[in-house]
This record gives sequence, structure tokens and C-alpha cells, in this order.
Amino acid sequence: MLRADVVVLGAGVVGLACARALAACGREVYLVEPEAGVGRGTSSRNSGVIHAGLYYPRDSWKARLCVAGARQLYDYCETAGVPYERSGKWVLATAASELSALESLATSARLNGAVVEWTSAAELARQEPALCAHAALWSPGSGIVSVPDLLEALLRDARDDGAELVLGQRAVGVRRVADGWEVALRAADGSPRDDERVHARAVVNAAGHAAPAIARLAGVDLDALCATPRFYRGDYLSVSPSAPRPRCALVYPLPQQHGLGVHLTRDLGGSVRAGPDAYAVSEPDTRLSLLSPEQWEHKADAFAASLRRFLPGIEAQHLQPEFAGVRPKLVRADGSSDFLLLGPADAGAGCVHLLGVESPGLTACLAIAEWVATRLETRTTRS
Ligand SMILES: Cc1cc2nc3c(=O)[nH]c(=O)nc-3n(C[C@H](O)[C@H](O)[C@H](O)COP(=O)(O)OP(=O)(O)OC[C@H]3O[C@@H](n4cnc5c(N)ncnc54)[C@H](O)[C@@H]3O)c2cc1C
Repeated sequence: MLRADVVVLGAGVVGLACARALAACGREVYLVEPEAGVGRGTSSRNSGVIHAGLYYPRDSWKARLCVAGARQLYDYCETAGVPYERSGKWVLATAASELSALESLATSARLNGAVVEWTSAAELARQEPALCAHAALWSPGSGIVSVPDLLEALLRDARDDGAELVLGQRAVGVRRVADGWEVALRAADGSPRDDERVHARAVVNAAGHAAPAIARLAGVDLDALCATPRFYRGDYLSVSPSAPRPRCALVYPLPQQHGLGVHLTRDLGGSVRAGPDAYAVSEPDTRLSLLSPEQWEHKADAFAASLRRFLPGIEAQHLQPEFAGVRPKLVRADGSSDFLLLGPADAGAGCVHLLGVESPGLTACLAIAEWVATRLETRTTRS
């Protein structure tokens, strides 16, 4: 049996941030990832947006960790040389009937500590001739980050402080033993001949879509917590350079129940994409071929119709299927969804489960890692 100080399960942006924070405190970290590289799950299938904390109910996990995480992430990008842009973002009321919802959003954003500025239709038209709306919120604290560079920087830091990354192995069991936790590992291709057991003083479950199943293996009763894991897929379509485009990288309508509404984002390379939408799926499957060519055509029509509400002139032929991501939601009894971070008090001494880490998990990764390091009674020397 191998012995480790802390085993971190999952090398997405959250697991990497946790590995980095724990290694910086002098913990010996064993980071386990089934894929052949880091960040190949949801962490590389998102919008790459640094959210400012506009949308989430006050005092929710998402609100607190997003606002703190955005601040930490901007600082980290600056010091670690990770490319980013504090681009700002528009949220638009595309009809007079949406004005009160935009006002409510402004109120909840401010309660969360996010800065937003009310902008009239005339002022928006002056600043953004391609856009039209009845009013807009300007969020100067929103931005975009290069996710591959962020993943690389987090891994580099963790390794510099001694963390060991093991690829091609997945956790298939986690159980409490007298003096810590026993983690059963199996080769990602399923071959049992490579089975291994690791004895660890502490375990951090940052396995994304697989995190609820691992938590159950470790004895967590999610039903008792009234928390149900659900997958919500979101599809992205690339926007051709010939389409009308706004000046700002980030343009959003008002949010919807499971997503932020079909919006426009630009990455640091200048590519513009539309999406994601949000629909329930039974598996976290991101293949484009899950939709038929007719379904993609229908989606391009629907996306173009949504976008035309604020970007006149955009047409379905400007849009091409690009990629998809799946949100690992944890839905509560009242239909809301939030992160659920279980520390040693709930998960057992030395154990942490990070559940339901959908958007804004990328933004929040450093704040989540700080929370984890604190719960495992260590001191972070980096933020
Ligand atoms: C469509 C979409 C758009 C988004 N846009 C944004 C955005 O703009 N801004 C933002 O802040 N957030 C956004 N998010 C959310 C963000 O992408 C996630 O919150 C974040 O990537 C979660 O990181 P993670 O490390 O928890 O999960 P993941 O990246 O999924 O990493 C989990 C890792 O665990 C590994 N794993 C799986 N099973 C096991 C096992 N048994 N043992 C060990 N390891 C295992 C996986 O291989 C994976 O690498 C978006 C999400 C989606 C789906």
C-alpha cells in the first residue's frame, strides 16, 4: 500500500488549485487524474469568463466564492503571467418588460459586493453601435482568462512545491480507516491488474462530475442533504468574423433558470462564440455528434433568434457547432442549485468533498482552494 499525506482526486482547475494551495503549506500532495493530462473535463469546456458575482443569491457559496475568487484570480494572473483581460461585460434588458428584472439583478449584484453601472439605451448605443437594448448593466469587474495557461500555471506551482501528479488512474473507492483514508485506485482503462491502494491522512474530492459518486462511496448521504446531482449540457457555436460584433468581449441577456441565457463571449485570441444553452442530459457526454445535423441547424436558428434581440443582423449562417460542456449541478429541494463544499465536520476528519462546482467554479477555484486548505488546518502562503 502506498502512503500519502493528502490525496487530491481530480486535476481540473479546482483540484489543481487545491493541490497548489496544500503543497504551498508544506503538505505532500498526491494528485490523481484518470485522463492523460490535466484540465480535460469541464475545465476545458467553458466560456473562460471571470465572473464578478452578479447572479447568485446573497451569502450562497457561489456568491461568496465567486467574488473572493475573482479578486484572487486577477491577482494570480498578474503575478503568474497568465494571460487575461479585464474586459467588462454588458447584461441587457432586451424588452421593456425585462427592465424590472435588470433592476433586481443590479440589486443582488451590489448585495454580493459586485460593482454594476446602470446604462441607458442611448448611452449603450453610443458605446456599442452594434447592440440594441432598453437598458444595460455594465460590470467592470468581469473579464476573460486563458484557461490552458491558468491550468499550466497552477500545475507548475503545485509541482514546484512538491506535488506529485499521477495520470491515467481513477478513484474507485474511498473509505475511512483508523488513521486516515484508504483510496482505491484503478487504471482509467479499467484493467484491475493495475489496482493500487493509497493510505492518506487527508482526501480532497475534486472529481467534478464524479464527485457525488465518490462522496457516496466515502459515506456521504446526499439524499439526507436534499441534494440531487444533475447534468446540464450547454452547446457553443462559433460566430464567423463576417457577423456583426460588439466592441466588448462579453454580452449577456438576462439569466434563465439553468444558465445565463445564450450570450456572446470572445476569447483572448479574438474568436467569438455564442452560447451555451442549458438542457438536462442523463450523462456528462460532450460529443457534438450527440446532435444530428438537423438538430444543430435548428439550434443555430434558435441561437440567432435569441441573439438578434440585442445584436441585429446576426443570422444562423454565421454560427457553426464548436464544442459542448456539461454542468455538474447539485439541485436542492426548492429547485435552486449551489456549490456544496463539505469539510471535515460533515465529511469526517481529514476529508473534503467539493460538489456541484458548476459555473462560476473556474472563477472561484482559488477561493475554493483557500477554503479547503483552511479546513484541512493548514496555512496558505499563496492566494
Ligand atoms: C458550459 C459551461 C460554461 C462554463 N463557463 C464558466 C465561466 O465562464 N466561468 C466560470 O467561472 N465557470 C464556468 N463554468 C464552470 C467551470 O468550468 C467549472 O466550475 C470548473 O471547470 C470545475 O472544475 P473542476 O476541477 O471542479 O471540474 P473538472 O474540470 O471536471 O475536473 C474534475 C476532474 O476529475 C477527474 N475525475 C473524474 N473521475 C475521477 C475519479 N474517479 N478519480 C479521480 N479523478 C476523477 C476528471 O477527469 C476531471 O479532470 C462553466 C461550466 C460549463 C459546463
